Amino acid sequence: EPIPPVLELVGVRAAYGPIQVLHGVDLTVHPGQVVALLGPNGGGKTTTVKVAAGLLPMAGGELRYAGQKVNGISAETAAGMGVCLIPEGRGVFANLTVRENLWLATGTGASREQIEERAYFRFPILQDRRNQLAGSMSGGEQQMLALSRALATDPAVLLLDELSMGLAPMIVSQMYDTVAQLVEEGISVLVAEQFARTVLPIADLAAVMLHGRIAAVGTPAEIDADLSTTYLGG
Ligand code: ATP
Repeated sequence: EPIPPVLELVGVRAAYGPIQVLHGVDLTVHPGQVVALLGPNGGGKTTTVKVAAGLLPMAGGELRYAGQKVNGISAETAAGMGVCLIPEGRGVFANLTVRENLWLATGTGASREQIEERAYFRFPILQDRRNQLAGSMSGGEQQMLALSRALATDPAVLLLDELSMGLAPMIVSQMYDTVAQLVEEGISVLVAEQFARTVLPIADLAAVMLHGRIAAVGTPAEIDADLSTTYLGG
């Protein structure tokens, strides 16, 4: 039997009050893939990843995890099923220390010590910063903290919204090295990014969102060519 996609959106619709913003989104992430969700501000990328993580209700269509229909799932249940979102702005608690932020992930069964140990093994800098307030760290360090918290839940699929936002190019490149490493470890990734150039090199598949619809899907090379001619005006 073929292995089902880890994550699948079929004809997904979503609205904020009376305003519909997703008009039938089809998106598939196969095991071990990095899928890039690209497109300009307001196209619906954030809404799409929120729906996928159970953070926003759907107004139509179907959401599937590992081939199983999960419409109406809560974010907690989604996380329990291995689907975890790192939101735009990273979602770390600025007024808590690095350790306190990490401890918030204990709901998943691991002990505080285990979560800290895993985080510091992957990102040694976090150990030096462990008693520092998260809000006083650099954007890259905060992103490492956000990733460490997400990884404590042993996700099958990571949803990353604007991973590169506000980060220096060298840090962005380090973060994408980390993403490539996570894929090696068996995690699948859907990453929403406004700036295609940062994510295309590690993507297996790319989709462009415009006005709440998938306007194009293809290999990174195809989409790169499309983006420079059609969507971003060269
Ligand atoms: P960005 O990168 O700026 O977040 P995006 O592609 O992720 O852009 P969304 O944030 O999903 O796009 O927004 C899609 C549309 O939904 C936009 O027109 C936006 O104004 C609208 N929208 C987003 N959040 C809300 C909200 N809470 N209430 C009403 N409308 C919203």
